[in-house]
Amino acid sequence: MCRCAAHYIKHAAQPRQNLCPLSSVLCPLMMSFLELLQTFPAAFIGVCLILGLMVGSFLNVVIHRLPKMMELGWRQQCAELRGEEPAAAPTYNLVVPRSACPHCNHAISAWDNIPVVSYLLLRGKCKGCGAAISPRYPIIEATSGLLCAYAAWHFGFGWAAGGALLLIWGLLALTAIDFDTQLLPDDITLPLLWAGLLFNLSGTFTDLHGAVLGAVFGYLALWSVYWLFKLATGKEGMGYGDFKLLAALGAWLGWQMLPLIILSSSLVGAVVGITLIVATKQGRNIPIPFGPYLAGGGLIALFWGQTLTQGYLQLLAAP
Ligand SMILES: [Zn+2]
Repeated sequence: MCRCAAHYIKHAAQPRQNLCPLSSVLCPLMMSFLELLQTFPAAFIGVCLILGLMVGSFLNVVIHRLPKMMELGWRQQCAELRGEEPAAAPTYNLVVPRSACPHCNHAISAWDNIPVVSYLLLRGKCKGCGAAISPRYPIIEATSGLLCAYAAWHFGFGWAAGGALLLIWGLLALTAIDFDTQLLPDDITLPLLWAGLLFNLSGTFTDLHGAVLGAVFGYLALWSVYWLFKLATGKEGMGYGDFKLLAALGAWLGWQMLPLIILSSSLVGAVVGITLIVATKQGRNIPIPFGPYLAGGGLIALFWGQTLTQGYLQLLAAP
Protein backbone atom coordinates (compact mmCIF):
# COMPACT_ATOMS: atom_id res chain seq x y z
CA MET A 1 0.00 0.00 0.00
CA CYS A 2 1.38 3.42 -0.82
CA ARG A 3 2.19 5.85 1.96
CA CYS A 4 -0.57 8.09 0.75
CA ALA A 5 -3.14 5.30 0.92
CA ALA A 6 -2.04 4.37 4.47
CA HIS A 7 -2.26 8.04 5.44
CA TYR A 8 -5.73 8.30 3.91
CA ILE A 9 -7.08 5.25 5.74
CA LYS A 10 -5.50 6.36 9.05
CA HIS A 11 -7.03 9.81 8.77
CA ALA A 12 -10.37 8.48 7.56
CA ALA A 13 -10.68 6.47 10.79
CA GLN A 14 -9.96 9.53 12.98
CA PRO A 15 -12.31 12.29 13.99
CA ARG A 16 -12.33 15.13 11.43
CA GLN A 17 -10.70 17.76 13.68
CA ASN A 18 -7.41 15.76 13.66
CA LEU A 19 -7.01 16.00 9.86
CA CYS A 20 -4.18 18.17 8.65
CA PRO A 21 -5.71 20.52 6.07
CA LEU A 22 -3.20 19.77 3.30
CA SER A 23 -3.47 15.98 3.45
CA SER A 24 -7.26 16.13 3.69
CA VAL A 25 -7.25 17.71 0.23
CA LEU A 26 -4.19 16.11 -1.40
CA CYS A 27 -4.66 12.49 -0.29
CA PRO A 28 -8.24 12.05 -1.59
CA LEU A 29 -7.17 13.83 -4.82
CA MET A 30 -4.21 11.46 -5.24
CA MET A 31 -6.42 8.48 -4.42
CA SER A 32 -9.06 9.46 -6.95
CA PHE A 33 -6.34 10.04 -9.57
CA LEU A 34 -4.89 6.54 -8.96
CA GLU A 35 -8.41 5.04 -8.99
CA LEU A 36 -9.08 6.79 -12.29
CA LEU A 37 -5.89 5.32 -13.80
CA GLN A 38 -6.83 1.87 -12.48
CA THR A 39 -10.39 2.06 -13.82
CA PHE A 40 -9.63 3.51 -17.25
CA PRO A 41 -6.73 1.77 -19.05
CA ALA A 42 -6.76 4.45 -21.79
CA ALA A 43 -6.10 7.16 -19.17
CA PHE A 44 -3.22 5.10 -17.73
CA ILE A 45 -1.71 4.60 -21.20
CA GLY A 46 -2.07 8.34 -21.93
CA VAL A 47 -0.39 9.34 -18.66
CA CYS A 48 2.49 6.90 -19.31
CA LEU A 49 2.87 8.27 -22.86
CA ILE A 50 3.19 11.85 -21.56
CA LEU A 51 5.48 10.76 -18.71
CA GLY A 52 7.62 8.82 -21.22
CA LEU A 53 7.91 11.87 -23.50
CA MET A 54 8.91 14.11 -20.57
CA VAL A 55 11.46 11.69 -19.16
CA GLY A 56 12.73 11.14 -22.73
CA SER A 57 13.58 14.85 -22.82
CA PHE A 58 15.56 14.45 -19.57
CA LEU A 59 17.26 11.32 -20.98
CA ASN A 60 18.62 13.50 -23.80
CA VAL A 61 20.37 15.59 -21.13
CA VAL A 62 21.72 12.47 -19.38
CA ILE A 63 22.96 10.99 -22.70
CA HIS A 64 24.73 14.22 -23.61
CA ARG A 65 26.15 15.18 -20.21
CA LEU A 66 26.88 11.99 -18.24
CA PRO A 67 29.88 10.91 -20.41
CA LYS A 68 31.28 14.46 -20.17
CA MET A 69 30.80 14.46 -16.39
CA MET A 70 32.66 11.12 -16.21
CA GLU A 71 35.51 12.51 -18.30
CA LEU A 72 35.78 15.59 -16.08
CA GLY A 73 35.91 13.29 -13.03
CA TRP A 74 38.70 11.19 -14.59
CA ARG A 75 40.71 14.31 -15.45
CA GLN A 76 40.37 15.48 -11.86
CA GLN A 77 41.51 12.10 -10.51
CA CYS A 78 44.51 12.07 -12.88
CA ALA A 79 45.49 15.57 -11.72
CA GLU A 80 45.22 14.46 -8.09
CA LEU A 81 47.38 11.38 -8.76
CA ARG A 82 50.02 13.57 -10.40
CA GLY A 83 49.91 15.72 -7.25
CA GLU A 84 48.59 18.74 -9.18
CA GLU A 85 45.94 21.16 -8.00
CA PRO A 86 42.76 20.30 -9.94
CA ALA A 87 42.01 23.12 -12.42
CA ALA A 88 39.05 25.28 -11.45
CA ALA A 89 36.22 24.32 -13.83
CA PRO A 90 32.71 25.77 -14.08
CA THR A 91 29.99 23.62 -12.52
CA TYR A 92 28.82 20.94 -14.93
CA ASN A 93 26.15 18.41 -13.97
CA LEU A 94 22.72 17.25 -15.12
CA VAL A 95 21.11 20.52 -14.00
CA VAL A 96 23.79 23.23 -14.41
CA PRO A 97 24.43 24.92 -16.85
CA ARG A 98 21.03 25.44 -18.48
CA SER A 99 20.55 23.87 -21.91
CA ALA A 100 21.67 26.16 -24.75
CA CYS A 101 22.30 25.96 -28.51
CA PRO A 102 25.90 24.74 -29.01
CA HIS A 103 26.30 27.13 -31.99
CA CYS A 104 25.01 30.49 -30.70
CA ASN A 105 24.53 29.83 -26.95
CA HIS A 106 20.83 30.82 -27.23
CA ALA A 107 19.23 29.58 -23.96
CA ILE A 108 16.55 26.95 -24.58
CA SER A 109 13.35 28.08 -22.86
CA ALA A 110 10.69 25.78 -21.44
CA TRP A 111 8.52 26.48 -24.50
CA ASP A 112 11.29 25.30 -26.82
CA ASN A 113 11.71 22.19 -24.72
CA ILE A 114 8.30 20.51 -25.06
CA PRO A 115 9.09 16.93 -26.13
CA VAL A 116 8.72 16.34 -29.90
CA VAL A 117 6.23 19.26 -30.27
CA SER A 118 8.89 21.99 -29.95
CA TYR A 119 11.11 20.27 -32.52
CA LEU A 120 8.22 20.17 -35.01
CA LEU A 121 7.19 23.79 -34.31
CA LEU A 122 10.79 25.00 -34.69
CA ARG A 123 11.10 22.80 -37.82
CA GLY A 124 14.30 21.31 -36.41
CA LYS A 125 16.13 24.66 -36.29
CA CYS A 126 17.53 26.80 -33.46
CA LYS A 127 15.43 29.92 -32.75
CA GLY A 128 18.56 32.05 -32.35
CA CYS A 129 20.81 31.12 -35.27
CA GLY A 130 18.79 28.73 -37.42
CA ALA A 131 21.35 25.89 -37.01
CA ALA A 132 19.86 22.41 -37.46
CA ILE A 133 18.89 20.57 -34.25
CA SER A 134 19.75 16.87 -34.35
CA PRO A 135 16.63 14.76 -35.04
CA ARG A 136 17.99 12.39 -32.42
CA TYR A 137 16.42 14.48 -29.63
CA PRO A 138 12.80 14.02 -30.75
CA ILE A 139 13.54 10.40 -31.75
CA ILE A 140 14.69 9.57 -28.18
CA GLU A 141 11.66 11.41 -26.72
CA ALA A 142 9.21 9.66 -29.04
CA THR A 143 10.82 6.24 -28.46
CA SER A 144 10.60 6.73 -24.70
CA GLY A 145 6.95 7.88 -24.93
CA LEU A 146 5.86 5.03 -27.22
CA LEU A 147 7.68 2.31 -25.26
CA CYS A 148 6.16 3.60 -21.99
CA ALA A 149 2.67 3.67 -23.54
CA TYR A 150 3.20 0.11 -24.82
CA ALA A 151 4.39 -1.02 -21.35
CA ALA A 152 1.26 0.55 -19.79
CA TRP A 153 -0.95 -1.33 -22.28
CA HIS A 154 1.01 -4.58 -21.94
CA PHE A 155 1.20 -4.76 -18.13
CA GLY A 156 -1.81 -2.67 -17.08
CA PHE A 157 -1.94 -0.46 -13.97
CA GLY A 158 0.43 -1.77 -11.27
CA TRP A 159 3.99 -2.30 -10.09
CA ALA A 160 5.02 -4.23 -13.22
CA ALA A 161 4.24 -1.25 -15.46
CA GLY A 162 6.14 1.10 -13.08
CA GLY A 163 9.15 -1.21 -13.12
CA ALA A 164 9.00 -1.58 -16.90
CA LEU A 165 9.09 2.23 -17.28
CA LEU A 166 12.24 2.47 -15.13
CA LEU A 167 13.91 -0.35 -17.05
CA ILE A 168 12.99 1.24 -20.41
CA TRP A 169 14.52 4.59 -19.37
CA GLY A 170 17.71 2.96 -18.11
CA LEU A 171 18.10 0.88 -21.29
CA LEU A 172 17.40 3.85 -23.59
CA ALA A 173 20.04 6.01 -21.90
CA LEU A 174 22.60 3.17 -21.94
CA THR A 175 21.90 2.41 -25.62
CA ALA A 176 22.54 5.99 -26.76
CA ILE A 177 25.59 6.51 -24.49
CA ASP A 178 27.18 3.24 -25.63
CA PHE A 179 26.45 4.14 -29.25
CA ASP A 180 28.16 7.54 -28.84
CA THR A 181 31.06 6.73 -26.55
CA GLN A 182 31.35 2.91 -26.22
CA LEU A 183 30.77 3.38 -22.50
CA LEU A 184 28.10 1.87 -20.25
CA PRO A 185 28.31 4.06 -17.11
CA ASP A 186 28.24 2.31 -13.72
CA ASP A 187 26.03 5.22 -12.61
CA ILE A 188 23.23 3.62 -14.65
CA THR A 189 24.03 -0.12 -14.84
CA LEU A 190 24.52 -0.64 -11.09
CA PRO A 191 21.40 1.22 -9.84
CA LEU A 192 19.46 -0.64 -12.55
CA LEU A 193 20.75 -3.94 -11.11
CA TRP A 194 19.73 -3.02 -7.53
CA ALA A 195 16.34 -1.78 -8.75
CA GLY A 196 15.72 -5.11 -10.52
CA LEU A 197 16.43 -7.04 -7.31
CA LEU A 198 14.19 -4.68 -5.30
CA PHE A 199 11.25 -5.01 -7.72
CA ASN A 200 11.54 -8.79 -7.55
CA LEU A 201 11.51 -8.85 -3.72
CA SER A 202 7.77 -9.26 -4.19
CA GLY A 203 8.10 -11.25 -7.43
CA THR A 204 7.05 -8.51 -9.86
CA PHE A 205 8.79 -10.04 -12.91
CA THR A 206 10.32 -13.21 -11.46
CA ASP A 207 10.91 -14.67 -7.98
CA LEU A 208 13.85 -13.38 -5.91
CA HIS A 209 15.73 -16.66 -6.39
CA GLY A 210 15.55 -16.27 -10.18
CA ALA A 211 16.55 -12.60 -9.96
CA VAL A 212 19.68 -13.19 -7.82
CA LEU A 213 20.81 -16.08 -10.03
CA GLY A 214 20.01 -13.94 -13.08
CA ALA A 215 22.33 -11.17 -11.86
CA VAL A 216 25.17 -13.60 -11.06
CA PHE A 217 24.90 -15.73 -14.21
CA GLY A 218 24.30 -12.67 -16.41
CA TYR A 219 27.64 -11.23 -15.30
CA LEU A 220 29.47 -14.56 -15.47
CA ALA A 221 28.15 -15.47 -18.93
CA LEU A 222 29.72 -12.48 -20.69
CA TRP A 223 32.75 -12.44 -18.37
CA SER A 224 33.55 -16.00 -19.54
CA VAL A 225 33.04 -15.08 -23.21
CA TYR A 226 35.33 -12.06 -22.72
CA TRP A 227 38.16 -14.14 -21.24
CA LEU A 228 37.81 -17.01 -23.75
CA PHE A 229 37.92 -14.47 -26.61
CA LYS A 230 40.87 -12.66 -25.05
CA LEU A 231 42.85 -15.86 -24.46
CA ALA A 232 42.11 -17.08 -27.99
CA THR A 233 42.71 -13.85 -29.93
CA GLY A 234 44.54 -11.49 -27.55
CA LYS A 235 41.81 -8.88 -28.22
CA GLU A 236 39.06 -7.49 -26.04
CA GLY A 237 35.70 -8.36 -27.59
CA MET A 238 33.52 -6.40 -25.18
CA GLY A 239 33.75 -4.28 -22.05
CA TYR A 240 32.97 -4.79 -18.37
CA GLY A 241 29.92 -2.56 -18.81
CA ASP A 242 28.37 -5.27 -20.97
CA PHE A 243 28.71 -7.81 -18.12
CA LYS A 244 27.04 -5.39 -15.70
CA LEU A 245 24.22 -4.65 -18.14
CA LEU A 246 23.45 -8.35 -18.63
CA ALA A 247 23.66 -8.81 -14.82
CA ALA A 248 21.07 -6.01 -14.47
CA LEU A 249 18.79 -7.64 -17.08
CA GLY A 250 19.15 -10.96 -15.22
CA ALA A 251 18.16 -9.21 -11.98
CA TRP A 252 15.03 -7.77 -13.61
CA LEU A 253 13.90 -10.74 -15.69
CA GLY A 254 15.44 -13.81 -14.01
CA TRP A 255 18.11 -16.29 -15.14
CA GLN A 256 15.51 -18.09 -17.27
CA MET A 257 15.51 -15.16 -19.71
CA LEU A 258 19.30 -14.98 -20.15
CA PRO A 259 19.53 -17.45 -23.09
CA LEU A 260 16.83 -15.52 -24.98
CA ILE A 261 18.52 -12.14 -24.30
CA ILE A 262 21.97 -13.41 -25.36
CA LEU A 263 20.60 -15.18 -28.44
CA SER A 264 18.45 -12.28 -29.68
CA SER A 265 21.14 -9.64 -29.03
CA SER A 266 23.86 -11.73 -30.72
CA LEU A 267 21.65 -12.38 -33.75
CA VAL A 268 20.76 -8.71 -34.25
CA GLY A 269 24.36 -7.69 -33.42
CA ALA A 270 25.74 -10.11 -36.03
CA VAL A 271 23.32 -8.92 -38.72
CA VAL A 272 24.08 -5.23 -38.03
CA GLY A 273 27.83 -5.90 -37.69
CA ILE A 274 28.07 -7.80 -40.99
CA THR A 275 25.95 -5.13 -42.73
CA LEU A 276 28.27 -2.41 -41.41
CA ILE A 277 31.40 -4.29 -42.51
CA VAL A 278 29.95 -4.83 -46.00
CA ALA A 279 28.54 -1.30 -46.28
CA THR A 280 31.54 0.62 -44.93
CA LYS A 281 34.22 -1.82 -46.26
CA GLN A 282 36.19 -1.04 -43.10
CA GLY A 283 37.27 -4.55 -42.20
CA ARG A 284 36.37 -6.40 -39.03
CA ASN A 285 38.21 -4.19 -36.58
CA ILE A 286 35.70 -1.33 -36.32
CA PRO A 287 34.42 -1.28 -32.74
CA ILE A 288 30.69 -2.09 -32.53
CA PRO A 289 29.04 -1.38 -29.18
CA PHE A 290 27.26 -4.45 -27.80
CA GLY A 291 25.18 -2.53 -25.22
CA PRO A 292 22.40 -1.46 -27.62
CA TYR A 293 21.84 -5.08 -28.71
CA LEU A 294 21.78 -6.32 -25.12
CA ALA A 295 19.27 -3.57 -24.32
CA GLY A 296 17.16 -4.61 -27.34
CA GLY A 297 17.33 -8.27 -26.26
CA GLY A 298 16.29 -7.15 -22.76
CA LEU A 299 13.21 -5.33 -24.08
CA ILE A 300 12.22 -8.36 -26.20
CA ALA A 301 12.51 -10.55 -23.08
CA LEU A 302 10.58 -8.00 -20.96
CA PHE A 303 7.58 -7.92 -23.29
CA TRP A 304 7.56 -11.30 -25.04
CA GLY A 305 10.01 -13.45 -23.05
CA GLN A 306 7.36 -15.68 -21.45
CA THR A 307 5.54 -16.25 -24.77
CA LEU A 308 8.75 -16.93 -26.71
CA THR A 309 10.26 -19.37 -24.19
CA GLN A 310 6.94 -21.21 -23.70
CA GLY A 311 6.54 -21.50 -27.49
CA TYR A 312 10.08 -22.83 -27.79
CA LEU A 313 9.55 -25.42 -25.02
CA GLN A 314 6.29 -26.56 -26.65
CA LEU A 315 8.14 -26.94 -29.94
CA LEU A 316 10.72 -29.15 -28.19
CA ALA A 317 8.00 -31.22 -26.51
CA ALA A 318 6.09 -31.75 -29.78
CA PRO A 319 6.56 -35.26 -31.23
ZN1 LIG B 1 21.64 28.59 -32.17
